[in-house]
Amino acid sequence: MLLIRMRRLVSVNSLVFFLVIAIITVGLFGLPRGEAKDSEVSLPPLQAHPLPLTLKNWNDSQNSGDYFSLMESTPVGSLIWSEFPIKVYWDQPNLSGDHSAAKRRFEQWAELVKQAITEWNQYLPLIEIQQEESADIIIKRDNPSLGAKINPETGKLEIPRARSAQTDYKLYIRADNPPILCHRMTIQISPNLSQELILSAVRHELGHALGIWGHSPVETDALYFSQVRNPPPISVRDINTLKKVYEQPTRLGWTMSQGN
Ligand SMILES: [Zn+2]
Repeated sequence: MLLIRMRRLVSVNSLVFFLVIAIITVGLFGLPRGEAKDSEVSLPPLQAHPLPLTLKNWNDSQNSGDYFSLMESTPVGSLIWSEFPIKVYWDQPNLSGDHSAAKRRFEQWAELVKQAITEWNQYLPLIEIQQEESADIIIKRDNPSLGAKINPETGKLEIPRARSAQTDYKLYIRADNPPILCHRMTIQISPNLSQELILSAVRHELGHALGIWGHSPVETDALYFSQVRNPPPISVRDINTLKKVYEQPTRLGWTMSQGN
Protein backbone atom coordinates (compact mmCIF):
# COMPACT_ATOMS: atom_id res chain seq x y z
CA MET A 1 0.00 0.00 0.00
CA LEU A 2 2.80 2.37 0.85
CA LEU A 3 4.40 1.52 -2.46
CA ILE A 4 1.31 2.66 -4.30
CA ARG A 5 1.24 5.81 -2.23
CA MET A 6 4.89 6.44 -2.97
CA ARG A 7 4.31 5.96 -6.68
CA ARG A 8 1.44 8.35 -6.58
CA LEU A 9 3.56 10.77 -4.64
CA VAL A 10 6.40 10.42 -7.11
CA SER A 11 4.15 11.01 -10.07
CA VAL A 12 2.79 14.15 -8.41
CA ASN A 13 6.33 15.19 -7.65
CA SER A 14 7.42 14.56 -11.21
CA LEU A 15 4.57 16.72 -12.37
CA VAL A 16 5.58 19.46 -9.96
CA PHE A 17 9.12 19.16 -11.26
CA PHE A 18 8.06 19.46 -14.85
CA LEU A 19 5.98 22.47 -13.90
CA VAL A 20 8.87 24.09 -12.08
CA ILE A 21 11.15 23.38 -14.99
CA ALA A 22 8.48 24.65 -17.32
CA ILE A 23 8.23 27.83 -15.25
CA ILE A 24 12.00 28.17 -15.22
CA THR A 25 12.11 27.54 -18.94
CA VAL A 26 9.20 29.79 -19.77
CA GLY A 27 10.45 32.43 -17.36
CA LEU A 28 13.89 32.48 -18.81
CA PHE A 29 13.19 31.78 -22.44
CA GLY A 30 9.92 33.59 -22.68
CA LEU A 31 11.63 36.95 -22.86
CA PRO A 32 10.90 39.27 -25.76
CA ARG A 33 12.59 37.95 -28.87
CA GLY A 34 15.74 39.76 -29.75
CA GLU A 35 16.47 40.69 -26.15
CA ALA A 36 16.45 37.16 -24.81
CA LYS A 37 19.85 36.04 -25.93
CA ASP A 38 21.96 37.51 -23.14
CA SER A 39 19.67 36.14 -20.42
CA GLU A 40 19.09 32.61 -21.64
CA VAL A 41 19.84 30.01 -19.05
CA SER A 42 19.76 26.24 -19.45
CA LEU A 43 19.32 23.60 -16.79
CA PRO A 44 22.67 22.17 -15.77
CA PRO A 45 23.68 19.03 -17.65
CA LEU A 46 23.62 15.72 -15.75
CA GLN A 47 26.93 15.21 -13.98
CA ALA A 48 28.09 13.11 -11.04
CA HIS A 49 29.46 14.78 -7.90
CA PRO A 50 32.44 13.35 -6.03
CA LEU A 51 31.27 10.74 -3.51
CA PRO A 52 31.01 12.08 0.04
CA LEU A 53 33.82 10.62 2.14
CA THR A 54 31.45 8.72 4.42
CA LEU A 55 30.08 6.78 1.45
CA LYS A 56 33.42 6.49 -0.30
CA ASN A 57 34.74 4.69 2.77
CA TRP A 58 31.66 2.47 3.01
CA ASN A 59 32.48 -1.10 2.12
CA ASP A 60 30.12 -4.05 2.40
CA SER A 61 32.40 -7.07 2.56
CA GLN A 62 29.38 -9.42 2.74
CA ASN A 63 27.98 -8.29 -0.62
CA SER A 64 24.49 -7.96 0.83
CA GLY A 65 23.16 -6.41 -2.35
CA ASP A 66 20.97 -3.37 -2.87
CA TYR A 67 17.67 -2.26 -4.42
CA PHE A 68 19.07 0.49 -6.60
CA SER A 69 17.22 -0.88 -9.66
CA LEU A 70 13.94 0.11 -7.97
CA MET A 71 14.76 3.81 -7.73
CA GLU A 72 12.31 6.15 -9.47
CA SER A 73 13.75 8.44 -12.10
CA THR A 74 13.31 12.20 -11.81
CA PRO A 75 13.72 15.02 -14.36
CA VAL A 76 16.82 16.26 -12.55
CA GLY A 77 18.55 12.90 -12.16
CA SER A 78 19.60 11.62 -8.77
CA LEU A 79 18.11 13.58 -5.82
CA ILE A 80 21.40 13.93 -4.00
CA TRP A 81 23.11 16.49 -1.81
CA SER A 82 26.52 17.83 -2.75
CA GLU A 83 27.16 20.33 0.06
CA PHE A 84 27.80 19.02 3.56
CA PRO A 85 26.74 18.98 6.28
CA ILE A 86 23.14 18.81 5.09
CA LYS A 87 21.10 21.36 7.08
CA VAL A 88 18.08 19.88 8.85
CA TYR A 89 15.32 21.79 10.61
CA TRP A 90 12.57 20.11 12.59
CA ASP A 91 9.59 21.38 14.53
CA GLN A 92 10.12 21.96 18.26
CA PRO A 93 7.58 22.51 21.02
CA ASN A 94 7.34 25.99 22.54
CA LEU A 95 9.68 26.59 25.43
CA SER A 96 7.06 28.41 27.47
CA GLY A 97 5.91 27.04 30.82
CA ASP A 98 3.49 24.54 29.33
CA HIS A 99 3.75 21.15 31.04
CA SER A 100 0.78 19.55 29.38
CA ALA A 101 0.74 16.00 28.08
CA ALA A 102 0.44 17.44 24.59
CA LYS A 103 3.72 19.30 25.00
CA ARG A 104 5.38 16.18 26.39
CA ARG A 105 4.26 14.22 23.33
CA PHE A 106 5.70 16.92 21.08
CA GLU A 107 9.02 16.75 22.99
CA GLN A 108 9.12 12.99 22.54
CA TRP A 109 8.37 13.42 18.85
CA ALA A 110 11.30 15.89 18.52
CA GLU A 111 13.63 13.52 20.42
CA LEU A 112 12.76 10.63 18.10
CA VAL A 113 13.38 12.84 15.06
CA LYS A 114 16.78 13.68 16.51
CA GLN A 115 17.51 10.01 17.04
CA ALA A 116 16.75 9.14 13.41
CA ILE A 117 18.97 12.03 12.28
CA THR A 118 21.81 10.71 14.47
CA GLU A 119 21.44 7.28 12.83
CA TRP A 120 21.75 8.66 9.28
CA ASN A 121 24.52 11.04 10.31
CA GLN A 122 26.94 8.10 10.28
CA TYR A 123 26.49 7.81 6.54
CA LEU A 124 25.99 11.44 5.44
CA PRO A 125 26.90 14.48 7.56
CA LEU A 126 23.80 16.24 8.90
CA ILE A 127 23.53 19.33 11.08
CA GLU A 128 20.60 20.75 13.02
CA ILE A 129 19.66 24.33 12.26
CA GLN A 130 17.05 26.58 13.88
CA GLN A 131 16.00 28.57 10.80
CA GLU A 132 13.46 26.69 8.74
CA GLU A 133 14.00 28.94 5.72
CA SER A 134 17.71 28.02 5.47
CA ALA A 135 17.17 24.27 5.77
CA ASP A 136 17.83 21.65 3.10
CA ILE A 137 15.52 19.17 4.84
CA ILE A 138 12.49 20.36 6.83
CA ILE A 139 10.68 17.93 9.14
CA LYS A 140 7.17 19.05 10.06
CA ARG A 141 4.91 17.60 12.74
CA ASP A 142 1.89 17.71 10.47
CA ASN A 143 -0.55 15.36 8.89
CA PRO A 144 0.64 14.90 5.30
CA SER A 145 -1.39 16.97 2.89
CA LEU A 146 -3.71 15.05 0.63
CA GLY A 147 -3.10 15.85 -3.01
CA ALA A 148 -6.48 15.28 -4.63
CA LYS A 149 -6.30 14.89 -8.40
CA ILE A 150 -8.52 14.19 -11.37
CA ASN A 151 -8.21 10.66 -12.72
CA PRO A 152 -7.78 11.17 -16.50
CA GLU A 153 -9.51 7.84 -17.27
CA THR A 154 -12.68 8.38 -15.25
CA GLY A 155 -12.73 12.18 -15.02
CA LYS A 156 -13.48 11.81 -11.32
CA LEU A 157 -11.75 13.49 -8.42
CA GLU A 158 -9.59 11.06 -6.46
CA ILE A 159 -8.81 11.84 -2.86
CA PRO A 160 -6.01 9.61 -1.60
CA ARG A 161 -6.29 7.94 1.78
CA ALA A 162 -4.56 9.70 4.64
CA ARG A 163 -0.87 8.92 5.02
CA SER A 164 1.05 8.97 8.27
CA ALA A 165 4.25 10.26 6.68
CA GLN A 166 5.33 11.78 3.40
CA THR A 167 8.38 13.32 1.73
CA ASP A 168 8.15 15.90 -1.00
CA TYR A 169 10.70 17.92 -2.92
CA LYS A 170 10.88 21.29 -4.61
CA LEU A 171 13.44 22.86 -6.89
CA TYR A 172 14.79 26.37 -6.65
CA ILE A 173 17.61 28.36 -8.14
CA ARG A 174 20.03 29.67 -5.55
CA ALA A 175 21.19 33.18 -6.34
CA ASP A 176 24.91 32.47 -6.33
CA ASN A 177 27.10 33.81 -9.10
CA PRO A 178 26.54 31.86 -11.28
CA PRO A 179 23.20 30.56 -9.96
CA ILE A 180 22.95 26.95 -8.82
CA LEU A 181 20.07 24.49 -9.22
CA CYS A 182 19.10 23.29 -5.74
CA HIS A 183 16.41 21.23 -4.08
CA ARG A 184 14.67 21.25 -0.73
CA MET A 185 13.01 18.26 0.91
CA THR A 186 10.00 18.52 3.20
CA ILE A 187 9.05 15.60 5.41
CA GLN A 188 5.67 15.52 7.14
CA ILE A 189 5.20 13.16 10.06
CA SER A 190 1.76 12.82 11.59
CA PRO A 191 1.45 13.88 15.26
CA ASN A 192 -0.94 10.95 15.74
CA LEU A 193 1.62 8.18 15.29
CA SER A 194 2.58 6.03 18.26
CA GLN A 195 6.03 6.61 19.75
CA GLU A 196 7.52 3.47 18.23
CA LEU A 197 6.19 4.30 14.78
CA ILE A 198 7.53 7.87 14.83
CA LEU A 199 11.15 6.69 14.86
CA SER A 200 10.70 4.21 12.01
CA ALA A 201 8.68 6.72 9.98
CA VAL A 202 11.33 9.45 10.32
CA ARG A 203 14.09 6.94 9.61
CA HIS A 204 12.27 5.81 6.46
CA GLU A 205 11.39 9.31 5.23
CA LEU A 206 14.91 10.61 5.90
CA GLY A 207 16.13 7.84 3.61
CA HIS A 208 13.98 9.37 0.86
CA ALA A 209 15.11 12.91 1.72
CA LEU A 210 18.76 11.84 1.48
CA GLY A 211 18.18 10.49 -2.02
CA ILE A 212 16.75 6.95 -1.83
CA TRP A 213 13.81 7.79 -4.09
CA GLY A 214 12.14 4.40 -4.20
CA HIS A 215 11.48 1.41 -1.97
CA SER A 216 13.03 -1.88 -0.99
CA PRO A 217 11.11 -5.13 -1.49
CA VAL A 218 12.87 -6.63 1.55
CA GLU A 219 11.26 -6.35 4.97
CA THR A 220 14.54 -5.91 6.86
CA ASP A 221 15.43 -2.66 5.06
CA ALA A 222 14.43 0.72 6.53
CA LEU A 223 13.14 1.71 3.09
CA TYR A 224 10.81 -1.31 2.84
CA PHE A 225 7.62 -0.14 1.15
CA SER A 226 5.29 -1.01 3.99
CA GLN A 227 5.15 -0.56 7.72
CA VAL A 228 6.11 -3.70 9.64
CA ARG A 229 5.52 -4.91 13.16
CA ASN A 230 9.18 -4.65 14.21
CA PRO A 231 10.65 -1.78 12.23
CA PRO A 232 14.23 -2.57 11.17
CA PRO A 233 17.24 -0.29 11.68
CA ILE A 234 19.07 1.18 8.69
CA SER A 235 20.41 -1.88 6.87
CA VAL A 236 23.61 -2.59 4.95
CA ARG A 237 21.44 -2.85 1.83
CA ASP A 238 20.02 0.63 2.53
CA ILE A 239 23.55 2.06 2.57
CA ASN A 240 24.65 0.03 -0.48
CA THR A 241 21.69 1.60 -2.28
CA LEU A 242 22.46 5.08 -0.94
CA LYS A 243 26.05 4.80 -2.17
CA LYS A 244 24.91 3.85 -5.67
CA VAL A 245 22.42 6.74 -5.67
CA TYR A 246 25.30 9.13 -4.87
CA GLU A 247 27.34 7.74 -7.77
CA GLN A 248 24.64 8.78 -10.25
CA PRO A 249 24.59 11.97 -12.33
CA THR A 250 22.32 14.83 -11.30
CA ARG A 251 21.46 18.36 -12.38
CA LEU A 252 21.32 19.41 -8.72
CA GLY A 253 24.20 21.34 -7.19
CA TRP A 254 25.54 22.45 -10.57
CA THR A 255 25.55 25.94 -12.03
CA MET A 256 22.90 27.07 -14.45
CA SER A 257 24.80 27.47 -17.69
CA GLN A 258 24.48 30.69 -19.65
CA GLY A 259 23.30 30.22 -23.20
CA ASN A 260 24.45 32.39 -26.07
ZN1 LIG B 1 8.52 5.53 1.49
